[in-house]
Formats: sequence, C-alpha cells, structure tokens
Amino acid sequence: MENRTINLEIRQKNRSAIFRLFREREALSRQEIVQILGLSLPTVTHNLDELIAEGLVTVSGSLGNTGGRRAKTYSLVRDARTAIGIDVKKHSATAVALDLEGTVIGTVQRNVPYSSTDAYYRLLGEMVSELVQKAKLRKDRILGVGIGVPGLVSRDNQTVFYGEILNFTGMTAEDFGRYIPYPVALHNDANASSFAEFRAYPDTPDAFYIMLSNNVGGSVYIDGQPYIGTNIRSGEVGHMIIVPDGKQCYCGQKGCVDVYCAATVLASAAKGDLSLFFWRLKEGDPDIRRVWEEYLGHLALTVVNLRMLFDCPIIIGGYVGAYIEEYMDELKALLKDRNTFDPEADYLRPCRFKGNAIACGAALYNISAFLNSI
Ligand SMILES: [Zn+2]
Repeated sequence: MENRTINLEIRQKNRSAIFRLFREREALSRQEIVQILGLSLPTVTHNLDELIAEGLVTVSGSLGNTGGRRAKTYSLVRDARTAIGIDVKKHSATAVALDLEGTVIGTVQRNVPYSSTDAYYRLLGEMVSELVQKAKLRKDRILGVGIGVPGLVSRDNQTVFYGEILNFTGMTAEDFGRYIPYPVALHNDANASSFAEFRAYPDTPDAFYIMLSNNVGGSVYIDGQPYIGTNIRSGEVGHMIIVPDGKQCYCGQKGCVDVYCAATVLASAAKGDLSLFFWRLKEGDPDIRRVWEEYLGHLALTVVNLRMLFDCPIIIGGYVGAYIEEYMDELKALLKDRNTFDPEADYLRPCRFKGNAIACGAALYNISAFLNSI
C-alpha cells in the first residue's frame, strides 16, 4: 500500500517536471528530456504520450539530421486551455483572454457603466461570447472566467461583502455569471493585479503592492504568498488616513489615501483621461504640474508609512503605476525627506506588469490553478 502511494507520487512528480520543462523550452526532443531531467526513456515516452493524448503537448518539428532518423521535437500547446478575465470598473469593463503562457490573445472593451441590472450582466455575457469568437477560443478548453471588482470578496470568491464603490454589496458570482456559460469567480481588483505582478515577476517574494487605479488598494506578499488578513481586508491601504479630517472618502471616513491617490484625482484634471494627464505633464503644463506635485506628496506619505510597517520593497502598480517609471526619481526624493532609515529609497519599484493587470490577474488565477494541477 505504502509502496503504491510512493510510486504514484513519483509518477506525478515526473509528469509535473516534464510538463514544467515544456513551459520553459520552446521545443524538446525525447532524448533532450531524458538528458535534462535524468529520467529513463520509457518514463519520458510514457508521460509524453499521456500529455499528447490530453492535448497539452504536440509534435512541433524535428531536429537537424543526426546521421540516422531525424528526432521529433515536441512543444507545449499554448492554447490547450485558456482563461478569461474581466475588469469591472465604474464606467467601463475590459475582458481579456489568456493562454497557458499567460499571453493575452484577445481583448474586448465596453464603455458602459456598472449597474446591478440584468441588462448589465447580459452585456458581460455578450462581451465573453465576443471574446470567444474574436480570440477563436475553443469552448471546451476555457477554464473559467475571473472577474476583478472594486470591492471585498468572500474567501470562496462567490460574494462581494463590501462594495461601496459600485454600491454592489451582496452581489454574487452567480449574478455576474448569469449569461456566462463558464465557471465564474470574483476577485478583489487589487489582489488580482498584484497576483499578475507577482506571478510574472517572482523575484520579489516579500513586497507590498499598492494599486493606484480608479480606487486605491493593496496587497501584501510574504514568501511569495499573499497575506489575506483575518477578515480578508489586509492591504486596504486606500483607507489609511493621511490627512486628519481631510476630504470625504466614500467609506464614510475623512482624509483616506483613496481620496488623494486614486488615478481619478489625476484624470479629472485632464478631462477624465489619465493618458492625457501624463502627456500634459510631460509637456510642462503648469496647472497639471501642480496637481501632480500635490498627488506625489500624498503618495510619498503613504509609501513611507508602508515601508515603516513592512520593511520590504514597495511596488507602485495600478493605472498610475503604468506611468510612474519616469517619475521614480521625483518620488524617491520625497521619500528620502520623510524617512531617516532609507536614505536611498531604493525599496521603491515601478510595477512591471502594466497592461490590463486586473483583468489578466483575474484570468491568471485559473491558469495558475490548472498548471499547478499537472
Ligand atoms: Zn476611506
């Protein structure tokens, strides 16, 4: 009995190792797998046959003439499984389709405001079917749909238990998925975007990711794992108070980080267009510069407090994070002024995962779970 369990474990380990190798290499011959992993040829052949039968690996070519028969090469079938992610925002929604490599293979966007109505959920269903067509996804290969929302989501990813921004507390994955014929899971937007960041760049296992999108959120990663908190509210940096009795926040308090550091603070100074804001900032518009300096001052205060608390790298993510690289020195100068312990402020990092981080992160949960199951 014990031996059988051990044998099963070894078989599983070999299968995972071979599959992982295909994710790392463009193409591999049977012999190369034998050499790299130090496994026997029958073991490699057996696993390869299984992976081919499951549609995860396929013959992709052959090696150069080695004197005898040309050795076949095999590669990962990148779209053997796919996943869909949706970023539900106040005024628009974006859906992306990802393959097993996490590459975006299709995008659909709609400038329709969120409302907890049947019409809205029908629209999400239409976006998903449009994406399936556009990206030529095979329906039987779609793992599921992850939806990133600006709210706090229950541990089972089925219910929004705090949704003040969209006034959607109590909404469920069933509501969102009413017209979506695949399994649906809800994810907090900051958690989803940080998941995309940490998965793509696992070289920073301990870090705080601050999401500067239309709302401000955050996520703490310790040893490469998110720290969720007792009430699934960890990293809610948006509601740290940085201005006593300051501007009114939607949460009911005054002076929260969200009021001063959301991307909308900048966008609203440029006709609601964040890219226009950064374009004007680059052009030297003095009014835009003033808004930027005030924004950076509040952001610096927030970052310094996070650094004091966690003593780890702080990653600037979200919509503003996508533009922050050019302004790192300016922000670092402010950090240096406020923190005696880190005179270089070299703990500050721009996010590297920039495009559609929330939607991609929401899809990547499914991709990741699938890859870990092989
Ligand atoms: Zn607040």
